[in-house]
Amino acid sequence: MKPLESNAYNVIKVKVVVEILKPKVFVTRELFDDIIAKMSELYEVEVWDKYYHPPYDVLLSKAREVDALVTLLTDKVDCNLLQSAPKLRIVAQYAVGFDNVDLECATKLGIYVTNTPDVISDTVAELTWALILAVAKRILESDSFVRQGEWHRTGTPWHPKMMLGTELKGKVLGIVGLGRIGTRVAKIGSLGFGMKVIYYDIVRYKEKEGILGVEYKSSLEDLLKESDIVSLHVPLTKDTYHMINEERLKLMKKTAILVNTARGAVVDTQALVKALKEGWIAGAGIDVFEGEPIPGDHPLTQFKNVVLVPHIGSATLEGRYRMAQVVLENLIAFYEGRKPPTLVNESVLNVRPPGFK
Ligand code: NAD
Repeated sequence: MKPLESNAYNVIKVKVVVEILKPKVFVTRELFDDIIAKMSELYEVEVWDKYYHPPYDVLLSKAREVDALVTLLTDKVDCNLLQSAPKLRIVAQYAVGFDNVDLECATKLGIYVTNTPDVISDTVAELTWALILAVAKRILESDSFVRQGEWHRTGTPWHPKMMLGTELKGKVLGIVGLGRIGTRVAKIGSLGFGMKVIYYDIVRYKEKEGILGVEYKSSLEDLLKESDIVSLHVPLTKDTYHMINEERLKLMKKTAILVNTARGAVVDTQALVKALKEGWIAGAGIDVFEGEPIPGDHPLTQFKNVVLVPHIGSATLEGRYRMAQVVLENLIAFYEGRKPPTLVNESVLNVRPPGFK
């Protein structure tokens, strides 16, 4: 009996020590229960359970105590915060974009930053197409026409000129950024709708050109001049900030539609409002905005030919669950001293090896 008792005691002791030594992670919004449960096997997890994001001062004080952060694009992970977090080793972002994180600063400090690429590319591409179709086929206008009784008031079920939209077949789809999402959008445009697809990117993807039948444009200006639909899929960086400005909007066809599911600040909003007011373009579909969430009386809300949705590019149950899985995989890999699968700042590997040791 004696040795067994002492073994059991040792097991308990080891368990207690492991519990005490668990790295702490602050998760800035509720994810899926089973994902949090799995995370809790390795980490001491604290979840921010409010609907709104933690204010900066809360995030700052949490960052000072924890070894890991799970963040959203609503969390400002700037250099001040990173420098104030002596134990912080990994920021696992629950998003594809990471423009809210000061990557350079994190790398210098040896803090790993991960994101959730690929797993929502189809989801975002589907939303992009929902916006293209909604604007081209005047879906929202038509819906309101029916609901408001306007259709009934016309007294006739059909008129040759009622709610005329745009046909997509044979038109030119211009993709800005032929990465993971841009490629999906291009494929649907080319194979699904029979469109001619052109793209502009800082990288030329010759292989994809052959497979997808897309044509490279080395100048954004040329793409804007030729496209009937312009769809943005670049990350927000200092180079893409206000990439679509007044000058470039003026280059677009008067019949063209602009769709933005990338990041709000890729487009100069004031210029876009002017373009819509003065008819430089025919319409827009927007998922992402400068200054989210925008007020109900935002200048963009005045246009019937504009469809606005509240940053729902990745908002499917399947997509969001896969994003949470990727966050978990990154945290597990880091805990085990392995390189996280979707590490964003590769050069951090030269600063500090992965893991909490
Ligand atoms: P990705 O990295 O696979 O593709 C981005 C492409 O943009 C790359 O081909 C890159 O070479 C190109 N690019 C980068 N800088 C450029 C520049 N200055 N000029 C021209 N091309 C440039 O990224 P992805 O997974 O396709 O995602 C694209 C972006 O979509 C993300 O960065 C994110 O901001 C946004 N996004 C939005 C949502 C949403 O909810 N609306 C969801 C996911 C991603």
